Amino acid sequence: MAYPTQTAAMEDLDTFDVQRIREDFPILHQKVYGKPLVYLDNGATTQKPSVVIDTIADFYRQRNSNIHRGVHYLSDQATTAFEDARKTVRRFINAPHERQIIFTRGTTESINLVAFSFGERFVNAGDEILVSEMEHHSNIVPWQMLCERRGAKLRVIPFDDKGELVWEKFEELLNPRVKMVAITFVSNSLGTVNPIARIVEKAHAVGAAVLVDAAQAVQHKVVDVQALDCDFLAFSGHKVYASTGIGVLYGKEKWLERMPPYQGGGDMIKSVSFEKTVFNELPFKFEAGTVDYVAAISLGTAIDYLEGIGLERVEAYEDQLLRYATERITSLGDLRLFGQAREKAGSVSFLFDGIHHYDTGLMVDKMGVALRTGTHCTEPVMQHFGVTGTVRASFALYNTFEEIDILVEALARVKRMF
Ligand code: PLP
Repeated sequence: MAYPTQTAAMEDLDTFDVQRIREDFPILHQKVYGKPLVYLDNGATTQKPSVVIDTIADFYRQRNSNIHRGVHYLSDQATTAFEDARKTVRRFINAPHERQIIFTRGTTESINLVAFSFGERFVNAGDEILVSEMEHHSNIVPWQMLCERRGAKLRVIPFDDKGELVWEKFEELLNPRVKMVAITFVSNSLGTVNPIARIVEKAHAVGAAVLVDAAQAVQHKVVDVQALDCDFLAFSGHKVYASTGIGVLYGKEKWLERMPPYQGGGDMIKSVSFEKTVFNELPFKFEAGTVDYVAAISLGTAIDYLEGIGLERVEAYEDQLLRYATERITSLGDLRLFGQAREKAGSVSFLFDGIHHYDTGLMVDKMGVALRTGTHCTEPVMQHFGVTGTVRASFALYNTFEEIDILVEALARVKRMF
């Protein structure tokens, strides 16, 4: 399909020209409360480049029709675009085959799918599921529900005060009863990058499968499911410059083939009668009902966009931003920094002594700076540190060093006012 793919940022691959990249994101060029918008809430969702917005609008203007269902021209066009997006996702995470790419509504649904279907088939009373103390609620609650249903036990890998997993504890917790290790690649509230390949190796040695929550990873670093050797990997489109309403589940075929469907309905069946329903093959077995195919197509475009800039370059640039932000925020003093792991990506979390996170967020908002405050859907992380929430600045490829200076100036004003 002829979508616009050439963008300002992609024309110039020799230098990381953030100003040109910013031209691709219309929403960034506005004022809030009379101040230039500084958007540092990218961990919650990223903004969309014009190429993604145009893909969605063009699709509805010219090509919309439901996928996989019609013999007519538009349906064929829509199906091709949708399946092309699946190919793009496969390439993006280096999955062996498109059959292993299942479209869902997002990371949360991908994890729920595995917790339900894997759980139904492979988890029994007395089995154990390992999660870490730094998981997003989306990678805790589905497993708790599974444990409740099947009489299994949820066990927790702790992290230390720097925000790194306690490796010895992880090793101690591993045993043949563990059926699944569900772990985040990058923590959304600490920024910690976990050593996934090492975790997978250890887990496999006791026969456990590994699900990787890559919601905060794929937009910041190259993710290769074959190199990681993980069994499942989940991420959300809206955090990687695509539309909301779409997510991905990657799984090894040896599991997906044996797992029962998660939901019943159109597209996941081959034939239906009142006596017997025959399920469709992969990946359709797990795609009941009408997938948000337009969002899936937008994800293909977003990935092309990101790859056009180059994820290694994005990672290197964002790493500099993160270091600069951490240094400058720390230099303000009278604060606690949450998450000082050796390897970090995406965000910096902190709290000024005696200033509520909510007040900090509200005050910098009036200065044009969008930060996130609260628990970041990681209440156990907050409990670990004995706080009710933190302030989080999270970065994307379009953020600049000047924006960090504006953030720091705004934070300095907050401090002066208290
Ligand atoms: N996991 C992590 C680490 C996240 O940061 C998030 C969202 O913030 C999720 C899971 C849930 O993602 P979604 O709401 O897109 O399903």
